[in-house]
Amino acid sequence: MENSKMKVRTIHTGNFKLDGGAMFGVVPKQLWNKLNPADSNNLCNWAMRCLLIQTEDRNILIDTGIGDKQSESFFSHYDLNGPQSLLSSLKSEGLEPEDITDVLLTHLHFDHCGGAVTNKNGVMVPTFTNARYYVHKTQWDSAMDPNPREKASFLRENFEPLYDAGKIIFLEQGDTIANVIEVHVFYGHTHGMIAPLICFPDGKKLFYGADLFPSSAHLKPHFVMAYDIEPLKTMSERARINEIAARENWWYFYEHDLITEISQVALNEKGQSYPINGSSLFEIFI
Ligand SMILES: [Zn+2]
Repeated sequence: MENSKMKVRTIHTGNFKLDGGAMFGVVPKQLWNKLNPADSNNLCNWAMRCLLIQTEDRNILIDTGIGDKQSESFFSHYDLNGPQSLLSSLKSEGLEPEDITDVLLTHLHFDHCGGAVTNKNGVMVPTFTNARYYVHKTQWDSAMDPNPREKASFLRENFEPLYDAGKIIFLEQGDTIANVIEVHVFYGHTHGMIAPLICFPDGKKLFYGADLFPSSAHLKPHFVMAYDIEPLKTMSERARINEIAARENWWYFYEHDLITEISQVALNEKGQSYPINGSSLFEIFI
């Protein structure tokens, strides 16, 4: 896996708020509140941080944030905040929507794929008109025929127009994109979530954890979101990845961590993982 001219950049799409208890499942508030202080409504603030990967001839975007199509009352539940948006962040990298060649949607929950489709004069159209959009088939099927637990997270207007426009490509475990991105597939948070591994010419590896590791706090084994449909599977998927990541010095990119953008991972004597060398993407991947 190699590409001589390669650049990665964080694409901030703004922050949103979610209930702290929902984000940490069975973990008591006394423990998680030290790491992610909640406001008076028990809400914690979370980033929606996407990633841009540029090779010689491709501009690849991973995830698209929450977008702006839904009603004011829908967005009011999530207290959107922060100065940046998907398109303003791309613009500050010198890119217009039509410059994006590939969009990888890790999964189809609204905070990851909302920006993929735009409401243009009442018609839902792909935001990135020249891009292929990638998703896992199992995830697609879950989104189109959702179980009652996840139903509220899948909003058809965020992804169905991509299919209607003939833009969707289904990826499988082990597939690659542009020779630099490896596809890894997970089933604990939602069925068929892709967490891509980006491989650099100098040997560095950056793992876009999506909602397998939404923040650095979620490296702790029991810090599993209440949203996850199969929490035990999340725990075993994390343990398997952590073991490889610690051995091979991977960097993790945290989509929802407000502060820590990337870190590496270490294992203690009990085999439990914790973050080390927390940093910004730019400092490590110039
Ligand atoms: Zn999420």
